[in-house]
Amino acid sequence: MADLLRFFPRAYEDRSRVTTISALQEGVKATIHARITSKRKIPARGRTILEARVADSSGAMSLKWFYAPRGLEEKLRDGAEARITGTPRLFMGRPEMAHPELSWGPVDVDTLDVGRVIPIYTELEGVSTRVFRRILWNALGSHSKHLSEDIPKRFLDKYGLPGIEEAMRTLHFPSETSGDLKLLSEFNTRAHHRLIYEEFFKFEYLVLTSRMRLERERAVALDESLAKGASEVLIKGLPFALTGDQNKAVLEILGDLTKPHPMNRLIQGDVGAGKTAVALIAVGATLAAGGQAALMAPTEILAEQHFQSIKRLFGDKLSAAILTGKTGALERRVLLSRLLSGEPLVLIGTHALIESDVIFKNLVLVIIDEQQRFGVEQRRALREKGALGERVQPHLLVMSATPIPRTLALTAYGDLSVTLIREMPPGRKPVRTHVVRDERRARAYDRITQELRSGRQAYFVFPLVSESEAEGFTELKAASVEAERLAQEVFKEFKVALLHGQMKPQEKALAMEEFRVGRTHVLVSTTVIEVGVDNPNATVMAVEHAERFGLSQLHQLRGRVGRGSHESLCFLFVARYLGEQSALRIEALERTQDGFAIAEADLEIRGPGEFLGTKQAGGLPFRLAHLVRDQDWLFKARDDVMELLREDPDLNKFENRQFSEFLAREGAHQMERLKTS
Ligand code: ADP
Ligand code: MG
Repeated sequence: MADLLRFFPRAYEDRSRVTTISALQEGVKATIHARITSKRKIPARGRTILEARVADSSGAMSLKWFYAPRGLEEKLRDGAEARITGTPRLFMGRPEMAHPELSWGPVDVDTLDVGRVIPIYTELEGVSTRVFRRILWNALGSHSKHLSEDIPKRFLDKYGLPGIEEAMRTLHFPSETSGDLKLLSEFNTRAHHRLIYEEFFKFEYLVLTSRMRLERERAVALDESLAKGASEVLIKGLPFALTGDQNKAVLEILGDLTKPHPMNRLIQGDVGAGKTAVALIAVGATLAAGGQAALMAPTEILAEQHFQSIKRLFGDKLSAAILTGKTGALERRVLLSRLLSGEPLVLIGTHALIESDVIFKNLVLVIIDEQQRFGVEQRRALREKGALGERVQPHLLVMSATPIPRTLALTAYGDLSVTLIREMPPGRKPVRTHVVRDERRARAYDRITQELRSGRQAYFVFPLVSESEAEGFTELKAASVEAERLAQEVFKEFKVALLHGQMKPQEKALAMEEFRVGRTHVLVSTTVIEVGVDNPNATVMAVEHAERFGLSQLHQLRGRVGRGSHESLCFLFVARYLGEQSALRIEALERTQDGFAIAEADLEIRGPGEFLGTKQAGGLPFRLAHLVRDQDWLFKARDDVMELLREDPDLNKFENRQFSEFLAREGAHQMERLKTS
């Protein structure tokens, strides 16, 4: 029952003014109270229109149904009275309403639908908003007295927020005094604030306590001087100097690894910020201390690239192996036995790492790259590979190139410590971005040709139709047809290559390698290159149907260029007629390169799902609260929960008893829903 009451209205409608027929205004939705005077059926082009005449003391009008609901005709009896809500129109000079909403029956039920500001519910499985109104009305009547007040009163008092019963009542059936329609519709009344605050409060409590619990679990602590020594050797051997932020990140991570509690850290840094080098140094420290490490990446290409990076950056100073779905059976068996023997090595791979026969003897460090690309379960599965008995957990490092807005960092990722790498390696040039409508396509091609002639290279990227869809045939065709066209017509003097998700791993690797060493000049690809591909000589990123991508995704694609010493360009090809929303979104990319600003914009437009991993549909467990709209309440709730945890960590105080009962009742269940790592 309490759960039912949390099925909140999605909107409100003002039906407080019941009017008369003579006072109706064309096009203005209104409610009248009238009597049926006659009905008839009008045949019209193969179907039948049902018409009723109604009258009140001021006049008469028609109601029309082009598709009459079953049973309606019988109800339209002469003399029957109804409240009728609809939008009047003039038809041949006379007023009528098409498909009005009717309320029959005793007045005490009718007042749910007219004569007040009424709630509008999302229709679910054939249950209409009108029926929900009655269900909720009854639920409130029978249950509102028994609602538990979970939030400690002093926090409600602090902001002057109403108690649970009043809040529920107002939310579902606002009275005239509970605020105007505008505030209600914006979910901006005290009643809304109260329930939004409650959602955030409970959520933050679970997040913060789970973080505290994690801090009490055990992990293998690396020897400090050993870890420091190993990382210094690796850093000295690098072909570049680490940036200040990278150095800071290394220190933070080593600090965690030398503690006997599991690290749970997110390295968040824009595309190209150099997260991999940092993670690999942590790997070096782990191996030096005799531990094993696992690094999971979302695609084979990326896993392969990490494997290459190790060679390139550290030579043979790090013992590494790679495991993907395509690893041969024999090779795989050898590899698995090395893992079982406890040999210190880092295993790089894809989802193949979480298969059940992959067993580490001594997994000390788990790294997940592009972690937003993995589902919650996959992340958890990899981490559980390291359960060394006696509740000893591996250290966990996750990396994300999708900058996570602050609100999300505090909520979904509230149980992670966050390391920011904002400083870019030296020499990065801003990428000049142009949104290109079709009529200017030729000019863009000319500009790209210039780049190619001066020895640079270009990417052309095509979208998938939907994110959940595997690379389908149509898109594949689009990319290969286009590759053909670009090769034959546009860039005749250059070599154009194709890369897509359905190629064999060796073919992919070959295509990448040819592009990297400059044997091919234009790489036409589907989104497989979105993450991690690295070729500093590529100076052009051209994205087709850019409007179909998320902003953060486009930002990542753009991050593929601007990595060398040359000026780089990004062309976003868009449909000639873009919706205003899409145009605004895409143009945001023209203006800014700040991944965080872009991520905030994306959060606002697309919701949190994208940041949490596509598998976690729907994202966060909020019914009412909205991360962008209500962020002030999020920050308040978080501060209050911290205060609560400081002052009464075991919730022994009388004033916190109700909250403690809530946790006993629902805490475990709620907790399951918000595991993020
Ligand atoms: P991301 O953070 O997107 O994962 P990478 O770790 O792939 O970025 O780094 C991008 C490129 O920058 C790589 O070629 C890497 O070797 C290089 N790189 C990393 N750190 C530095 C640095 N401090 N100076 C110069 N180049 C660097
Ligand atoms: Mg990376």
